[in-house]
Amino acid sequence: VKRYNILLLEPSYKNKYPPLGLMKIAQYHGSQGKDDNVVFMKGEDPEAKKYSWDRIYITTLFTFEFPAIRKNIDFAISLVNGQTNKIFVGGIAASLMHQYFLMHPEWRGVRFIKGLLNKSPAESLQLDDFEEELYSNDTHGSPIEYLVPDYDILDQIEYQYPVNDAYFLYATRGCIRKCKFCGVPKLEGDQFDMPDISSVVKNIIKQYGEKKDLIMMDNNVVASSNFNEIIAQAVDLGFGKDAVLSRNGSMVKRRVDFNQGVDARILTKSENYLKEISRLCIDPLRIAFDHLGLRKQYEKSV
Ligand code: SF4
Repeated sequence: VKRYNILLLEPSYKNKYPPLGLMKIAQYHGSQGKDDNVVFMKGEDPEAKKYSWDRIYITTLFTFEFPAIRKNIDFAISLVNGQTNKIFVGGIAASLMHQYFLMHPEWRGVRFIKGLLNKSPAESLQLDDFEEELYSNDTHGSPIEYLVPDYDILDQIEYQYPVNDAYFLYATRGCIRKCKFCGVPKLEGDQFDMPDISSVVKNIIKQYGEKKDLIMMDNNVVASSNFNEIIAQAVDLGFGKDAVLSRNGSMVKRRVDFNQGVDARILTKSENYLKEISRLCIDPLRIAFDHLGLRKQYEKSV
C-alpha cells in the first residue's frame, strides 16, 4: 500500500502556542488515522525539497504576519511544482482575510479554508470526489476539529513553543455576542458545546501522557450554560487551587488560563462565576471588557 507524504507547515513567525489545527490534522493522517507519512516543519526548511508531497497543509495566525505567510505559501507551491490543488491553507489569518488570499492569481487552486474543520474531513477540506482527490470519499469520518491533537509532531522541529506542556482545549466555540470588531461570530457563529474536556484530556493522557497546564481557549466560557460543569471537570482533572504536578523529580505548580479572557459583563451578574473560577489554579485571570464603558463593571469584578 502506498503511504502518502503529508507535509504540515507553519510560517516562520514566533508564536506562543503550538498549532492546534495542524496537530489535529496530524492525528487525522497519522498512525492512528490514515497511516500516512506525516512531517511537520516550520518556515522554509530546505529538507522539504528532498521529498515529493501528496498534500501540504499550512496554518496561519496573525494577519500582520502576512509576509511570512506569503513566503510559506510560495515555498509550498515550489515544493509541489506548481500543483496548487495539493495545498490547503487554514487558520485564523486565512479565515479573517479569506477574500484577500483568494485575490492572489499566483495562488489559484490553493484551498483557503475559512473557519473550523467541523464537518466531515472531505467536506471541511473541500475535497473533490470527481477528481478522485485523496480521501475525498471520507464524507462520514469524525470532523478533524474533534480529533486528539498529535503532540509528537512538535518534536520534529527545533522551535520551542513557550507554552507547550499543556492541554489546549475548547469547552465551547463560537460566542453568544456579536461585537462588530470581532471575527468570532463570523467564523464560528453562535456558541456551541464541544466534547467534554475530561474525555478529551483522558484521550490526550492515553496517547501523549499528562500535561502540566490547562489552557482554555474558549471565546466566552462564562456564557456557557455548562460553566459550572466545566469548572467541576477541571477540578477533577487535577486543576484545583494550588495544584501541583511532578516534573523532572520536583513538584511544579499547575495553572489554568482562560486565554481569551472572561466576559466582564457576565462575571458581574452573579458572584457564582468568580467563586467557581477561584476553585481553580487560575493564572492569570484575564478579564475581557470588550466594549468601552465597561470599566466600572470591570473594577467591580476584580
Ligand atoms: S464577546 Fe468577545 S468573543 Fe464574543 S463577539 Fe464579543 S469580542 Fe468576540
